[in-house]
Amino acid sequence: NTSPPAALAEDIEVEKAIQPDSVIINLDHGDPTMYEQFWEKTGEKATIVIPGWQSLSYFSDISNVCWFLEPEFAGEVRRLHKLVGNANTDDRHIVVGTGSTQLYMAALYALAPTDTSKQPISVVSAAPFYSSYPLMTDFLKSGLYKWGGDAYTFNGEEPYIELITSPNNPDGFTRKPVVNGTGGILVHDLAYYWPQYTPITSQLDHELLLFTVSKSTGHAGTRIGWALVKDKNIAQKMTKFIELNTIGVSKDSQLRAAKILGAVSDSCTDSSDSESFFEFGRRLMTQRWKQLRHAVRTSGLFSLPEFTSDFCNYYEKYSELHPAFAWLRCEGDIEDCEKFLRDHKIITRSGKHFGRDIKFVRVSMLDRDKNFGLFVERLSNITSENKFP
Ligand code: PMP
Repeated sequence: NTSPPAALAEDIEVEKAIQPDSVIINLDHGDPTMYEQFWEKTGEKATIVIPGWQSLSYFSDISNVCWFLEPEFAGEVRRLHKLVGNANTDDRHIVVGTGSTQLYMAALYALAPTDTSKQPISVVSAAPFYSSYPLMTDFLKSGLYKWGGDAYTFNGEEPYIELITSPNNPDGFTRKPVVNGTGGILVHDLAYYWPQYTPITSQLDHELLLFTVSKSTGHAGTRIGWALVKDKNIAQKMTKFIELNTIGVSKDSQLRAAKILGAVSDSCTDSSDSESFFEFGRRLMTQRWKQLRHAVRTSGLFSLPEFTSDFCNYYEKYSELHPAFAWLRCEGDIEDCEKFLRDHKIITRSGKHFGRDIKFVRVSMLDRDKNFGLFVERLSNITSENKFP
């Protein structure tokens, strides 16, 4: 009997019944499911087992400023940065967080002046900026800091905190500080400063750098981020924030993240022929950007940013940017790009959330192959003849 089991036959019938053009394609969040393929293939090398007696204590290393930081995780963070060459970890304090989201809030708490008789310090970032910054900054109506908007229009006469996201979410460009002021405190959000997205042009060495496994390895659900902090006092204050917020960070997640980061490093140093993690990511991103640019040309209704290539110290050759998001602009008489695409059953995030206008949307490039394939196909089929369904 060669026919499929009943349940499978049912699935096949359902698949047949779903017309690809009736499927809603949701690319609103930067959910990094694209990486599942690599980790499936990696199997045991990235798997951990935690016995019942392990990880009971609140404490990891009480001699460390960040007393809940698992030494194994810290070791793998330093090893990977050294290998990739994207950040200096020498003489830096590592503070671990429940995602870099928690570290962002810890950083604001640690960096804001404590004198509450003064106005809260302004937190600014150059538009288009990551849509969560204003929401996270003002959520608890802190007396210490407040969202100050687009850094390009900030006068810089009073003290401020400037967030530099490089490569930038949503538009993918490499960024430098833009406020021309003296009292500025800088936070570098480097979630996407990894070789699958952008050329690694220098080993960064700023005061406070934020990283996350969410976008580096794709393990957003593990909720692990880390900060590299030059000043001990700032690292202590960030640690205090996390202590009062969640009494530390899941050890289980840190151990898993350590295994994953270790597997990434191993894949790069392994002398066998198998593709390294960054080669896998780079190959997929290159392919996807090519497909997307082709779809945009075929449709004729959209435009995308153009990037120049730069020398990548990691690959030791010139390479191009392949951002984790596409910052897509609707051309011509289409005013509200998010609404326009929603009418074509494509869910994206409007430019208005990033401090720009509604002609723009942000589209995730990190979804599973099938969803991304449907997206580019549908986009290329939207033309001036059929644009209003
Ligand atoms: N910073 C930037 C620029 C991001 O894009 C994201 C995720 N979208 C984060 C921080 C938050 O990452 P995490 O999952 O580590 O909280």
